[in-house]
Amino acid sequence: MSRCSLDIGQGCDYHVDMLHRPMNDTDDERLLADDTLAALQQEVARCRRCNAAGYDVVHSPVMGGIAAVPMVLVGQSPASPQGTPGGLPFNGRAGRRLFQWLARIGWEEEAFRQHCYITAITKCYPGAGTNGKGDRAPTRREQQCCRPFLVRELALIRPQVVIPLGRIAIEFFLGRIGPLDQVIGRTVVLSEDSPAPGACLIPLPHPSGASLWLNKPANQALVAQALEHLRSLRDQQTSIPNT
Ligand code: SF4
Repeated sequence: MSRCSLDIGQGCDYHVDMLHRPMNDTDDERLLADDTLAALQQEVARCRRCNAAGYDVVHSPVMGGIAAVPMVLVGQSPASPQGTPGGLPFNGRAGRRLFQWLARIGWEEEAFRQHCYITAITKCYPGAGTNGKGDRAPTRREQQCCRPFLVRELALIRPQVVIPLGRIAIEFFLGRIGPLDQVIGRTVVLSEDSPAPGACLIPLPHPSGASLWLNKPANQALVAQALEHLRSLRDQQTSIPNT
């Protein structure tokens, strides 16, 4: 947690003013930035860095949204193109669990997608895991290859809330962490030298179900706590409807 300036509990008072910031001329900048975000997405679509580095990734970048949103959700990497109907991120099995979680705090999938930019640590499908369970986790080298894209996405969007899903995404922001239960259920304000300076970070486990971590009732309680933090931030931000 060395990159975080402040650990906050239930609320995020430091950010209440930011979250209530009215839409104004800065939004013009955000809409202009959207063009640049579109350009970045085209760049990602052309990228073959991982293939050049010897990884047999399936080039099917799944990322979505516009720059003028207050939240960014960061997954690990896209699912198989066959498992993401319509090319929508989190439109498969992991997405079903994610949106079940959000439904518990009264957040409908469509509204969430409209107000959250969804991306991932690596943008291409890494292939199936060797143990037959779930997908292969991207290597550190692949993560490094793709890192500049995520850094640029965050710089363009300047999110107020960031939701990293799973250890790899959480460690992108916090550096090496210990057991997941030390970070899930906590909300962290990212430091000024973070890729998302000043944003409230609400870590969640990856919803793929590949890990047994979620089976423990104590861990499920931590997820519920994290979701309550997210609900609290959403309710403070009048421009984020839940339906
Ligand atoms: S995962 Fe990222 S760096 Fe690797 S090929 Fe895809 S877009 Fe390029």
